Order: sequence, then C-alpha cells, then structure tokens
Amino acid sequence: MQHEVPTDGATDALEVWIDQDLCTGDGICAQYAPEVFELDIDGLAYVKSADDELLQAPGATTPVPLPLLNDVVDSAKECPGDCIHVRRVSDNVEVYGPDAE
Ligand code: SF4
Repeated sequence: MQHEVPTDGATDALEVWIDQDLCTGDGICAQYAPEVFELDIDGLAYVKSADDELLQAPGATTPVPLPLLNDVVDSAKECPGDCIHVRRVSDNVEVYGPDAE
C-alpha cells in the first residue's frame, strides 16, 4: 500500500471507523458528532450508517459527511483512546487518527 501525505484530504471522500478494543467510553466523539458516533449499551462508541443504524461489526466504516468533517476530525484528535481512524476511501490511507502520517 502507498503511504503518501494527503494534499487535499478535505475534498476526498473519507470514511471513519472505531477500534472498540481501545475505546474508553467517555463519549467525547458522540458529543462532537452525534450524527456519526454513538455509545451503545455496552458503553463503547460505534459509528453509524447514513440512515442512523449503529454499525457494530469490528472495523465497520461509515462515510464522513463533509459538513461534519471538522467535528469528526476533532473527535479523532481528542479521543482519549486514540481509536478513531479517518481514512481516504480511494486508497485506504489514514488521514486523521493514530495511524495518520
Ligand atoms: S472519543 Fe474515543 S475513547 Fe471516547 S467514546 Fe469516542 S471512540 Fe471511545
């Protein structure tokens, strides 16, 4: 896989997923972007599909709506578990999150 520095991440289609193994359940992400993140009854955060369905499969991704990009990026930056991953759909390169270059 290529690892290149994103030059225009804001206009590329992005998707986001959460590594629940590292989630602390504090809910910061769900506060910042409730349209994208939600805490389940297990106390962990999950991404939601565009039609508001909680996606609980490990590594499940959901598209990042452009108007919510800043909220999703802030969530990734402030996530205490470092477990929110935002990547480009076109090449799966992480652009925000613990594995971003
Ligand atoms: S901000 Fe991170 S650690 Fe906190 S609930 Fe969301 S995914 Fe979990």
